[in-house]
Amino acid sequence: MPLQTYDTQINSVCQPFTAVSHSFDPQTLKSVYSFESNRQTSDMRCPYCGKMNVYVHARHSTEIKDFPFLPKHRQSLVFYYHGYKCRECGHHFMEPIPAKVPNARITIRAAEWIKGLLSRNMPVSAVAEITGFHWETVKKIHLGFMDEFLRKRKEELHRSGYKPTYLAVDEFAIHKGHSYASCVMDLETGEILWVGQGRGMEDFRKFFKEYDMERLNNVKAFAMDMNASFNRLVEEYMPKTEIVYDRYHMQAQYGKDVLGSVRLEEARKHQDKSNELKKLVGTVDDKETLQKLKQEIRNENQGYTRLKKARWAVLTNSRNLSESGGEALDEILNSHSDLATCYAMKEEMNRLFELRDKEKAYYGWMKWFLAAEESGIPQLQKFAKLKVRRLKGLVAHATHPISTGKLEDTNNKIKVAKRIAFGYRDQGYFFTLIRYQSSLGLPTIP
Ligand SMILES: [Zn+2]
Repeated sequence: MPLQTYDTQINSVCQPFTAVSHSFDPQTLKSVYSFESNRQTSDMRCPYCGKMNVYVHARHSTEIKDFPFLPKHRQSLVFYYHGYKCRECGHHFMEPIPAKVPNARITIRAAEWIKGLLSRNMPVSAVAEITGFHWETVKKIHLGFMDEFLRKRKEELHRSGYKPTYLAVDEFAIHKGHSYASCVMDLETGEILWVGQGRGMEDFRKFFKEYDMERLNNVKAFAMDMNASFNRLVEEYMPKTEIVYDRYHMQAQYGKDVLGSVRLEEARKHQDKSNELKKLVGTVDDKETLQKLKQEIRNENQGYTRLKKARWAVLTNSRNLSESGGEALDEILNSHSDLATCYAMKEEMNRLFELRDKEKAYYGWMKWFLAAEESGIPQLQKFAKLKVRRLKGLVAHATHPISTGKLEDTNNKIKVAKRIAFGYRDQGYFFTLIRYQSSLGLPTIP
C-alpha cells in the first residue's frame, strides 16, 4: 500500500515519534499509548547557539493526558524522549514533544476539546466530569486561552491607536450581601476594561494603579453612581475627565427614598384614621351617623389600599401609563398634595436629564433644588440637600449624556461567568471570565 507508506513518511518527518506499545486496564478503564523518539541526533539544532553539534545526554519519559475515546475512560500518551547537550555552547535542552500543550501535561487535542466545551458556556465541573480531567486542569486551560485572547485584543487596540472616550464604573454583587466587585467599562465598545474586588474607594484605587493610564488620556467623561466614592479618585487620577452622575441610580434612589417614603406615609395616615374611626363605632347609637361613619372607614381603607398599590404607577413615566391608569393616578395625586409635589418633581427630574444644553441644565437643576428645599416635605428636602453637592456632575450629563446603564447589560455575562465558575472560589479566574465574555464578538476596531 504505497499511499499509506507515503502518509506515514510525512508524519514521521514532523512528529518523529513512533508508537511502540498500547495497554488497557479494564479495572481502571485506562489506556496508555507509548511513543519512542526516532529522531536523528544529527538533525537536532541547539536552540541556544543554533549549531548542529549536539549529543544525547539523557533519556526521559513523560505521561500526558489525552482525550478518552469513551466516556468514563481515561487515556494517556507516554513519550520517551531525549535530553541533549550542545558540544559548542554546553547548554542542555529537551527534545520537543509535538502533541503537548506548553506548561501542562495534556495533549493539544484534549485542550481543544476542553476549549470547545467551555466556549459553549458549560460549567467547569461538567467539563471536568465529561473529559475526566481535574477541574484545576480545565480551569488552567480556560485561563490560558482567555488570557491569550485578551492579550491579542489589547495588542490590536494598541496598534490601531484606539483610546476610550467614555467610561462607566459600577459595582455588582458576587455573593449578595457578602462580597462585591467593581468594574469599569468602555462605553463605546462595551468592553469591561477592569474588574476588581470590593466596592470601596481603596478597592477602586487599584484600577488606576493596575491600568495603563496612558491609554486613558483621551477619556472625556466617566459615568458613575453618585453614592459611591469613585468620583474622588477620578478627580485625583484623571483631572481632565468630567464626572457624570448616573441618572438611573439617582432616579431609583428618588423613587425609593422620596416617592416611596411619602406614598407609604400617606398610606399610613389613612390606616391611622381608619383605626381611629373604628374606635367610634361602638359609641354611636344613631343609625344614620353609624352608616356615615362606616362609609368613612371604608373610604379610608380604600385610600390605604389604593396608595399601597400605586407603587408602579407613581414610579413609571406618565407617558407610559394607560388612560385608566393615568386617571387613577390623577385621583390619588389630587387628594395627596405632598405626593403630587414629589411626583411633579420626579417628572421634572426626568426632563432635566433629557436636556442637552449645559446652561439650561444648570438653571433647571438650580430651580429644582430650590423647589425641593421650599417644598417643606422632609424626604424631598433631605434628598435635595445630599444631591445639590453633585450639581456639577448632574449638569455634565447635558454635555455627555452617558450612564452606567450599559453596565447593567453585563449582568447577564456575569451570570454566565458565575455559572461556568460555580463552586470554585477563584476570583482571578472569575474576573478574567467576565472580561473575556464582554470582549467576545466585538469588532476589532471600534
Ligand atoms: Zn549550543
